[in-house]
Amino acid sequence: MNMDDKKISIVVSVYNEEKVLNKFLEAFENMKMDIVWNYELIFVDDGSYDNSLSILYEASKKEKNIKVISFSRNFGHEAAMIAGIDYSTGDGIICMDADLQHPLECIPKIIKKFEDGYEIVNMVRVSNESAGVIKNITSSIFYKVVNILSSETSFEENVSDFFAVSSRVADILKKNYREKSRFLRGYVQSVGFNKTSLEYKALERAGGTSHYSFKKLVKFSISTIICFSDFPLKLGVYTGLLSAVIGVIMLFYTILTYKNAPSGYATIVTLICFLFSVLFIIIGIIGEYLAVLFSEVKDRPIYIIDKKINME
Ligand code: UDP
Ligand code: MG
Repeated sequence: MNMDDKKISIVVSVYNEEKVLNKFLEAFENMKMDIVWNYELIFVDDGSYDNSLSILYEASKKEKNIKVISFSRNFGHEAAMIAGIDYSTGDGIICMDADLQHPLECIPKIIKKFEDGYEIVNMVRVSNESAGVIKNITSSIFYKVVNILSSETSFEENVSDFFAVSSRVADILKKNYREKSRFLRGYVQSVGFNKTSLEYKALERAGGTSHYSFKKLVKFSISTIICFSDFPLKLGVYTGLLSAVIGVIMLFYTILTYKNAPSGYATIVTLICFLFSVLFIIIGIIGEYLAVLFSEVKDRPIYIIDKKINME
């Protein structure tokens, strides 16, 4: 096949990135001759309320390969990537951030991997200068926990939301992975196919600030575990069995030593407090799953598009 006929779709999620967009466009302009395939640059504006959208409009007027999808409101980073994948028309699709933390120089290397026959390219972060020690350690612990809990897939540590998939994999994501509560980069790793990884050095944000607060990260981690594991749901059975065994032991102990009663006030209080807290935690876990189920049943859209530019 003639390589010139191939096309790469580059999906960039944008949320209030007016400080970095021009730098991104400029950097892209400077490196695009290194892209051996045809290309389309799809910016997904995730409900920005700064000047991002008008910067993108300007850019798309000058260059037909620059396409813009704008959402009716903020739907989140993953929704933006999903929309970009949905509307991509390339043979390979790369998802990346707008803040230049994901180096554009990786694009030709990714295309090389597609040419070698790989369908999935995971970009593995080797160092994250801006994240700091604590974020790096927590993210490593997070992947370990998810790996222990999830039976079917094993996740590579340090995969980022910088990845590339072939159009075949993209079709599967478009048709079969439409969950409302989801972990996109996990799905990418769990569909199978020929996959490979490339290392990249995460750079400092080119401007502005990160949109991920600690609270958002916690929420994100919980929903990820729920997406890939039903182990927490089974905790109720395990703790129930354990407390039943302890209960039987206590029963015999009480029968054998009841003449010395009625001491044991402290034991009773401790047991009641402990067992009730276990009970409520488990009810809470069931609630979390119920919430996911509820949003699935409601079947609201993952994103709502306001405008599309340079797209038919
Ligand atoms: N982003 C988005 N919607 C959001 C939050 C972020 O599309 O609700 C985009 C953002 O513009 C950026 C990417 O997702 O291109 C990653 O966000 P950020 O750089 O804030 O996260 P970090 O790199 O700090 O994890
Ligand atoms: Mg970033």
